[in-house]
Amino acid sequence: MAAKRILLLGAPELWRKCTAVKDIALPETKMTIRGLRDTLADFRKKNGFGRGIAAPQIGVLKRIIYVHFPKAGISGALINPRIVKRSRTRIRLWDDCFSFPELLVKVQRAREVTVSCTNEKGENCVIAAKDDLAELLQHEIDHLDGILAVQRAIDNRSFAWRKEETR
Ligand SMILES: [Zn+2]
Repeated sequence: MAAKRILLLGAPELWRKCTAVKDIALPETKMTIRGLRDTLADFRKKNGFGRGIAAPQIGVLKRIIYVHFPKAGISGALINPRIVKRSRTRIRLWDDCFSFPELLVKVQRAREVTVSCTNEKGENCVIAAKDDLAELLQHEIDHLDGILAVQRAIDNRSFAWRKEETR
């Protein structure tokens, strides 16, 4: 399976709410997971970074995200992920997205979240995440509700072109 084209800001699919996956064993579910895995790996190879991708970014309106976060021992698809708990403590950070790779957006996220989901084997799992993993999961799960980081901007100056912010 080859990498898919990543939809960019403005593509209508990115604003849509995704539907739950009912059957993990379906060939189309497996195909979406492979598509996400290969697209994320390809992005990382070309850009040197990239830790997560959501199904709508490759045009599939299903509740599946794919996370590559070896530091926490997580590399795989999270199906029907749901935030079941979030801390009151917030963090502010410059967020980025494969769908607008040159734009950074300053957002506020919960420092810690607990996510419940189903893994690729069909097992239920619970992930307790904090800091960068928590922020990543909130970003990817937002995608499944058609919410992009630009909508989470703290104020109307919370935008920066990557080159300006990192020079
Ligand atoms: Zn994104």
